[in-house]
Amino acid sequence: MKFAVSSKGNSISDTLKNKIQTYLLDFGMELNEEEPDLVITVGGDGTLLYAFHRYSDRLNETAFVGVHTGHLGFYADWVPSEIEKLVLAIAKTPYHIVEYPILEVIVRYNDGGREEKYLAMNECTIKSMEGTLVADVEIRGQLFETFRGDGLCLSTPSGSTAYNKALGGAIIHPSIRAIQLAEMASINNRVFRTVGSPLILPDHHTCVIKPRNDVDFQVTIDHLTLLHKDVKSIQCRVADENVRFARFRPFPFWKRVQDSFIGKGE
Ligand code: NAD
Repeated sequence: MKFAVSSKGNSISDTLKNKIQTYLLDFGMELNEEEPDLVITVGGDGTLLYAFHRYSDRLNETAFVGVHTGHLGFYADWVPSEIEKLVLAIAKTPYHIVEYPILEVIVRYNDGGREEKYLAMNECTIKSMEGTLVADVEIRGQLFETFRGDGLCLSTPSGSTAYNKALGGAIIHPSIRAIQLAEMASINNRVFRTVGSPLILPDHHTCVIKPRNDVDFQVTIDHLTLLHKDVKSIQCRVADENVRFARFRPFPFWKRVQDSFIGKGE
C-alpha cells in the first residue's frame, strides 16, 4: 500500500510525521506523496482540509485518516499517544472505508462563458466585498428568493458542524446526501424578505446564486479564500465525488458531535 503523511508543520506534528513514516516504512509500506492510497494527516482539521484539497483530483483512490496534535478534531480523531496502535492497524488490518458527501461549486463569469469548478469538504461561503450581498437564489432552476445580507453559506453534512453550526444551521448526518444553505444576517423587513431558515437540499437539487449588484465577491472554499470579479453565478450541488475516510475503529458521528460540543457530562 502507498501512503503519505501530511503535517501541520509545527514541531510536534513534524516529529510525529517522521515517526509514522519510519514505522510504516519498517512494515514494508511504500511512501508515495504523489499517488497515495492512504494519507495520514497530523495536526488538526485544517491539516486534513489541506490534504483533501491537495489530493482532490484522486478522491476515488485516496482515503484519509487524521491525528490531532491540538484539541479534538472533527476529522482528526486519533491522539498522538495512539500512534503505535494506528500504525499497526494500518499495516495489519484491511481497513473499512466510510464515504461522506462533498459540495461541488461552479463559479461562472460574465466574460465568454468562463467557469471554475471547486470541491469543498466543509463549505462554500459567499460574501460581497463592498457592503450588502444582494443575490437571487435559485433552486432547481426556479427563483426562490432575493437575498440581502452579509452572505450565504452552503455546507456539506460533515461540514454542518463547522461554520454552518455557528450560523444556526442544523447538524446533518453524513449518510444523508445533501447540502445546507444557511443565511448570514439577512435583511428582513416589510420590503425585503428571505425564508430566514436554513434549507437542506437533497442530491441533484442544484442551488444557483446570481449576484444582483456588480461587485467583487469573496468566496471561501473551506480554508481557502478567493476573490472573484465579474461573477455571473455560483452553482452549488452535492458533488458526484465523495471524500473517503479510513476507519480502524468505530467512532459514530453522533459520538463525535457529543465529544466535540457537549463533553462527557456528569
Ligand atoms: P481555523 O484554524 O480558523 O479553525 C476553525 C475551527 O473549525 C477549528 O477549531 C477546527 O477544528 C474546526 N473545524 C473545521 N472543520 C470542522 C468540522 N467539519 N466540524 C467541526 N469543527 C470543524 O481554520 P481551519 O482549521 O483551516 O478550518 C477551516 C474551517 O473553519 C472552515 O471550513 C470553516 O468551517 C471554519 N470557520 C468557522 C467559522 C465560524 O464558526 N464562525 C468562521 C470561519 C471559518
